[in-house]
Amino acid sequence: MNIILLGPPGAGKGTQAEKLVADRGMVQLSTGDMLRAEKNAGTDLGNRIKAVMDAGELVSDEIVSSLIDENLGRLQASQGVIFDGYPRTAAQAESLDGLLAAHGRKLDYVIELEVDEDALVERIVGRYTCAKCGAGYHDKFKQPKVAGTCDVCGSHDFKRRADDNEETVRTRMAEYRAKTEPIIPIYDARGILCPVDGMADIDLVSAAIAAILDGK
Ligand code: ADP
Ligand code: ADP
Ligand code: ZN
Repeated sequence: MNIILLGPPGAGKGTQAEKLVADRGMVQLSTGDMLRAEKNAGTDLGNRIKAVMDAGELVSDEIVSSLIDENLGRLQASQGVIFDGYPRTAAQAESLDGLLAAHGRKLDYVIELEVDEDALVERIVGRYTCAKCGAGYHDKFKQPKVAGTCDVCGSHDFKRRADDNEETVRTRMAEYRAKTEPIIPIYDARGILCPVDGMADIDLVSAAIAAILDGK
């Protein structure tokens, strides 16, 4: 099974992908994670995209689609994929169709996390992750069971993203509205769009997604 998790910054895509990986053994392909890895490693590509990412603007379609292509090539046919944060433009949506066909895959569902914009700034400003395993947390909405200790790996080391500040979030939301929202009707027309209430508690959102994937 191959699915897209679609929604604005802070909608809960990464949180839900983490759960699907743990529960169903799917593979998460997050272009944001791939781009951050390039940036942090200081590769040529990373240095070229740093300013764009720090400003909250979109990296070029060619770059992200080629990262997705490379990563799809490393998977086994039996591994289901969660596309997280990709596609984000009409051109990327078109590229994805070609890449899926080339890799012998098809898209089963596009899960759209519907959220109030007002809630997103609070979600993003309070977001942090485990520096060792990448598990996601929130100051208010998803605290570790033992304060200061990662639930998944036990690490005490956490980090926050440079672009998770109010000003950049506004730009990222505007980019979403202008460039990503317009691709939603494409998937609706294909009959694979599944809207989910992303304002519900994390576990309820997970249950709604599970019901879709299980065909219930
Ligand atoms: P995205 O990947 O869509 O940008 P995340 O999954 O990183 O979003 O979620 C943003 C922040 O909001 C994280 O700190 C996460 O713990 C928190 N969060 C995710 N889903 C919910 C939810 N349903 N209710 C409250 N907080 C949430
Ligand atoms: P969020 O889900 O919180 O918006 P991501 O981790 O998905 O954040 O993306 C962080 C940044 O990486 C984006 O603001 C953008 O600069 C870049 N990026 C990630 N995915 C894409 C993509 N598919 N196309 C263009 N730029 C992207
Ligand atoms: Zn951890």
